[in-house]
Amino acid sequence: MAGKIAKADVTIVGGGIVGLCLAGFLAEEGRDVVLVDNGQIGGSNANAGSLHVQMQSRFMRLYPENVPGMERQLHLYPKAVRFWQEFERKLGADFELKKKGGLMVAENADQLDFLRRKAERERQLGLEVEILEEPELRRLAPYLGPAAFGAELCLDEGKLNPLRCNAAIRKWILGLGVRIIDGENVEDASRDQQRFVVATDKGSRIESGALVLAAAVGTQKIAQRFGVNVPTRAEPLHMNITEPTTPMIEHLVQHADRMITLKQFSTGQIVIGGGWPADLAGDREHPTVRLDSMIANATLACHIAPVIGPLRIIRTWAGINTSVDGKGVLGPIPSVPGLFFAVPGDAGYTLGPLSARMVADMVVDRNPGEDMEDYRPERFAA
Ligand SMILES: Cc1cc2nc3c(=O)[nH]c(=O)nc-3n(C[C@H](O)[C@H](O)[C@H](O)COP(=O)(O)OP(=O)(O)OC[C@H]3O[C@@H](n4cnc5c(N)ncnc54)[C@H](O)[C@@H]3O)c2cc1C
Repeated sequence: MAGKIAKADVTIVGGGIVGLCLAGFLAEEGRDVVLVDNGQIGGSNANAGSLHVQMQSRFMRLYPENVPGMERQLHLYPKAVRFWQEFERKLGADFELKKKGGLMVAENADQLDFLRRKAERERQLGLEVEILEEPELRRLAPYLGPAAFGAELCLDEGKLNPLRCNAAIRKWILGLGVRIIDGENVEDASRDQQRFVVATDKGSRIESGALVLAAAVGTQKIAQRFGVNVPTRAEPLHMNITEPTTPMIEHLVQHADRMITLKQFSTGQIVIGGGWPADLAGDREHPTVRLDSMIANATLACHIAPVIGPLRIIRTWAGINTSVDGKGVLGPIPSVPGLFFAVPGDAGYTLGPLSARMVADMVVDRNPGEDMEDYRPERFAA
């Protein structure tokens, strides 16, 4: 399709979890959809597969100014996990989705106090969470090492296999007739007489009545073409996966004070991440692993769960996470009729399908069933 001219009802820029789901939901509504993706390693094909619900201590520490916003969208997370479960059933696919709960581990009394305060606030905001003292924690999670002192447990948390999800969703949307233009970067976008025109670096040109920007960190540059400021930031992050072993870790494990997520996939492999930095290298700003992140991330994992110590790391990789102000940027913008934004908030893979559903509803002029005030794209200064 490179270098071709296409016409569509809706053009979506960005083929991550949000763009893919949006394309499917809109095609189900009878819309003719073209999806363009440049093939960079974004969040959706690099992420750790954690289904987050409780507030992540990493984000609270790094971006304290975003905490009020995180609290306001907290109720979306358990809803997003339920949405993933329904979505798996609807597609008849196997996402390897398991909702066995998430533990945020504390190593001392101060950290457990922090978790107590966090849990109290989260309960006020409607989450179901509880604090576990050491004996109870050891019964529930015998794989944790001597460093574990207590934890916050959120039973709504879980895990899935993103590679399986992405493949199943892509197959679903192709079956619905979505046209995908892969490996082409959207360089230009404009609006002329009620029609949007999107042009790629390989010479493709797509005209449509509506345009949705689901391009994560790439959103800012395209939005500027329409005089809109959406300050997306690239956050390159590091991941590791071990060789398979017998099933032993059923929870999603995090830490109250340090950067880690740790879980075991159905394959038996342990996936270790949690926000350690990667680099953007070369002209193409390719996400690239860092040895210091690999060592620190793996060392911390063994400290928390020494039982994984003998396992070999068989693969590391990096991907680009996108952060804005902690909250999603979702919906239309009044200054440019027909232009929509679809950038999820923090833990965007968890929120991806639900965010896409809400934006799809707005594109077809249906009530998304949530107060969208907090997610308005025009909230940033010009
Ligand atoms: C290493 C890592 C681990 C993570 N772990 C988790 C986790 O465990 N749980 C969780 O909930 N979240 C996690 N996240 C965050 C999550 O992956 C992202 O928030 C989510 O995938 C974002 O989805 P998206 O569709 O908005 O964006 P992306 O998946 O980034 O997709 C955007 C797409 O748009 C394309 N694009 C951008 N600009 C253009 C352009 N101009 N033209 C054409 N295409 C363009 C990009 O190439 C990309 O393919 C993690 C992120 C990373 C990097």
